[in-house]
Amino acid sequence: MADTTTAAATPAGTNLTDSPHYLAQALVANGIKNMYGVVGIPVTDFARIAQGMGMRYIGMRHEEDAVNAAAAEGFQTGRPAIALTVSAPGFLNGLAALLEATTNGFPVIMIGGSSTRHVVDMHEGEYEGLDQMNYAKAFCKESFRIDKIEDIPLAVARAMHIACSGRPGGVYIDFPDDAVAQTMDADAATAALWTATNPAPAMPPAQASIDEALKLLSEAKNPLMLVGKGAALAQAEDEVREFVSKTDIPFQPMSMAKGLISDDDPHNTASARSLALRTADVVLLVGARLNWMLNFGEKGWNPDVKFIQIDIDPNEIENARQIACPVVGDIKSAMTMLNAGLEKTPVKASDEWLGAIQAESKQNDEKFAARINSGKVPMGHYDALGAIKKVYDQHKDIILTNEGANTLDDCRNIIDIYEPRHRMDCGTWGVMGCAVGYSIGAAVATGKQVLYIGGDSGFGFDGMEIEVACRYNLPITFVVLNNGGIYRGDFENLGKDGDPSPLTLTYDAHYEKMIEAFGGTGYYATTPEEVEQMVGEAVASGKPSFVHVQLAEYAGKESGHISNLNPKPVVGPLATSEMTSDPYIEGAHM
Ligand code: ADP
Ligand code: MG
Repeated sequence: MADTTTAAATPAGTNLTDSPHYLAQALVANGIKNMYGVVGIPVTDFARIAQGMGMRYIGMRHEEDAVNAAAAEGFQTGRPAIALTVSAPGFLNGLAALLEATTNGFPVIMIGGSSTRHVVDMHEGEYEGLDQMNYAKAFCKESFRIDKIEDIPLAVARAMHIACSGRPGGVYIDFPDDAVAQTMDADAATAALWTATNPAPAMPPAQASIDEALKLLSEAKNPLMLVGKGAALAQAEDEVREFVSKTDIPFQPMSMAKGLISDDDPHNTASARSLALRTADVVLLVGARLNWMLNFGEKGWNPDVKFIQIDIDPNEIENARQIACPVVGDIKSAMTMLNAGLEKTPVKASDEWLGAIQAESKQNDEKFAARINSGKVPMGHYDALGAIKKVYDQHKDIILTNEGANTLDDCRNIIDIYEPRHRMDCGTWGVMGCAVGYSIGAAVATGKQVLYIGGDSGFGFDGMEIEVACRYNLPITFVVLNNGGIYRGDFENLGKDGDPSPLTLTYDAHYEKMIEAFGGTGYYATTPEEVEQMVGEAVASGKPSFVHVQLAEYAGKESGHISNLNPKPVVGPLATSEMTSDPYIEGAHM
């Protein structure tokens, strides 16, 4: 049978084009480079056609991971990639990640094939029938349906603008089979195509808000900057670095903003976080929300603190508490204006304030260094992550992806990041099952090496995607810290049936063997020396590789650093047994 899908944009012998060709043509014309998906009815040919037309197609194993991979590309580049799903079940699998991307502010366009409109609408019992456009509305910034082939350029332009502008996020395009089958004149189609004009426009804030912000900062005794992933998305590293170096204001990086200014910069307050939050009197929020991660700007903060909030989204201002000075606009413009305004209104943090932060940091760093170099076997999270840090410090341009509970919290504290957008993790929601997809998207979008660090539980959600890493020969090293459970492996069954506890996973596992099944290289490490040597070797290979790190079964803490969010039972054995006796638990450094 002739393979028609690799031919040019026009099916042979006609002057017609069809919707799959036209949609692929419109995506390419808008500079979209990569599509991550799982094919099936009715979008299999669409994926093959797009590949034939020069888009890179990465075939994933689950739609959630496909959307996460595409979202990671959006975070890395500021431009959306495509996530492709089949109808109903595949579409639904993608929705969790679509909302996750939207919550995090990552631009992404999800295209879902869907079943015949009128049959779905009459509830006749269509194959995989679901009113997908309307279901998607709650899960993204906007949701469209292509009913007519002529609407394809409009659908793509609308999707580009909505995904990229303001706070970026997810857009859904429904592609029903009756639209897939439509045709039109190929020349007319090409003539009607356009490229979205400036989909991520600068949105400078009002000068008056900048003047007010500088006035507040110049009067502050202990000014602080809180840099969030909005600044990383905005690619505002140059402007933010300039402001720090001109004003000496210390900064607290949020997780995915680490590296925007190098973590080893002397203005970094990460090792003196509690002191910084408790003492700062004026805080400049640069693309960070005062949400649960920051105790909504209340608990742990100076009660008299005044916030200046730079955000592109006016709906976000005063989301949880009063803000002294809203600055509504994009961070690149805002920081450029703040830098320029320093001539008229100089701002300089005092040596006393910076000195207090640095003294506290030094003390905590010394305690910390002892913990990550304890040499204990079996290892705890700190021992293993301390060993990985030694490797990472030799390879500062590797993008690190991270998921788990203790593995996530401890890694964020232990492994310094030196370059912008070089850390991707569970984000605003604290999700699991995102980081293998992120690893694939980050590797494809940037061509850089990726180091995945996950717990055995976190990895279980998206682990099958290591086959994708092998199939496309992506330079990803997967490291799984195995303590045999969710949080840790030694919880007991409170009943009598002899089953494992709800938290228990396989402690005697060999996760590294999974990658060997697909042609990658596996390693099994039990000591910090082995971790350093094996992760070093795996990273140096630049090939799909996997290091299983065996921890103590009792390493870790229920809910990691956020056990305070877990309501405890008031009666029964769990009311008293909190399992906080673990010698590996860290207290202060966070
Ligand atoms: P973090 O989790 O790192 O604290 P959040 O996701 O809570 O960061 O906050 C990021 C904020 O940045 C969001 O409120 C978003 O609207 C904002 N933002 C995203 N991109 C830009 C931009 N280009 N300019 C200004 N604000 C932005
Ligand atoms: Mg575990």
